[in-house]
Amino acid sequence: MVTRPPSAFSGFAGRRARFEHDRFDASHDRELRDGFQQLATRCGLTSCSQLAGFLTQEGFDLGMPRLAEIAALCGETENDLELSDTNFRKRTSQDLIQFLVQILDCGLAVRDFHGFRNRFANLYEYTRDAHRGEIASYIPELARNSAQSYGLSVCSIDGQRFAFGDHHTDFTIQSVVKPLNYALAMSLNGESLVHRHVGREPSGRRFNELALNADNRPHNPMINSGAIMCCSLIKPRLNVDNRLNFIRRYWGSATGGRLPGFDESVYASERATAKRNVALTNLMREHNAFPEDSDTDAALDLYFRACALTLDCDALSVIAAMLANGGVCPLTGHRVAAPSIVRNTLSLMLSCGMYDFSGEYAFSVGLPAKSGVSGGLMIVVPGVCGIGLWSPPLDRQGNSVRGIEFSRLLVDTFPFHVFAGVAGD
Ligand code: GLN
Repeated sequence: MVTRPPSAFSGFAGRRARFEHDRFDASHDRELRDGFQQLATRCGLTSCSQLAGFLTQEGFDLGMPRLAEIAALCGETENDLELSDTNFRKRTSQDLIQFLVQILDCGLAVRDFHGFRNRFANLYEYTRDAHRGEIASYIPELARNSAQSYGLSVCSIDGQRFAFGDHHTDFTIQSVVKPLNYALAMSLNGESLVHRHVGREPSGRRFNELALNADNRPHNPMINSGAIMCCSLIKPRLNVDNRLNFIRRYWGSATGGRLPGFDESVYASERATAKRNVALTNLMREHNAFPEDSDTDAALDLYFRACALTLDCDALSVIAAMLANGGVCPLTGHRVAAPSIVRNTLSLMLSCGMYDFSGEYAFSVGLPAKSGVSGGLMIVVPGVCGIGLWSPPLDRQGNSVRGIEFSRLLVDTFPFHVFAGVAGD
């Protein structure tokens, strides 16, 4: 018997996203390492394997690139290296030690990891029973998805992770590709050029409605017309294969190394039944909405291909966490997108990310999110974590039924609504 999750949870300390990977001056290295030693001793950690066990318990996967040095040191089985050993000092970078100090010194966004995880487990169990919704079939291949599939993954802005259900099953990302393609178009062309060709106002219509704004531009980058436009702005001089690879590599840096796959049959199925997206492209051509010299057929083809990229919930949660972290991937510590681009992307996800349910979602859930017709949903909790969810049955607006139910319960459980603070939650 699953009980409704209790509300009010204070085991996390949301914080402003870190805009740069903090670095210490080399002269502080000694001080930093001494501080680490003291903290480790206080936590009862004296050897590398104890440290590794502690990190695992706190939700860190030792396979994450930021912890690679620890994983390597623990892999040397013949002796368990003492943290006080000079070899440990020699073989660990300042970046790693600083990260460890942050972890041991209660500097994580999610402090009570187990309490946090347990509440999500409860939310997952509770929403698993939602059986309404229809699986999208207008792209025939999508109808093969199962109504039972349900995956949920969470990644904190520091890289702590946990997941439930079908979190490791790949699905086509569909419209969830839109925010990142928008971010990529902006990083390649700048904000003003991109917004010469696409607006930033909710459309209030379906995602593929044959309609443009008063300037004959797509309303925003989160609906089909705007996403096709963003594709036209991604490396237009390259051929479509190379353009798609460029997008894949961008996603690869956002996931901390996992390159998206490609579902050839979903791509072919969408292309063969794409009358509406062809019509949208023609409408934009008629109004000269595309940049001059655009190959609009190629832009549309790139859009179909990008929608057919595949990822699992685990990877999706890391991308969401990168956005929640101001553009720095939590697993690698590398910057993927500039802060201003992340701000723009999150603003549009908040106002336009959930189709013609966006206003209601912003009102009642109050988080930047993006859904797709295959049942994928990416939710960003700024300064705390990213969430990847997949459950194919959709509601009337085209959003995952379980995804919407989960979102509502999420903000009942945690004070995550962007305006929760002013309500004293
Ligand atoms: N590939 C889909 C389409 O263009 C994406 C739409 C969506 O996920 N809402 O129709």
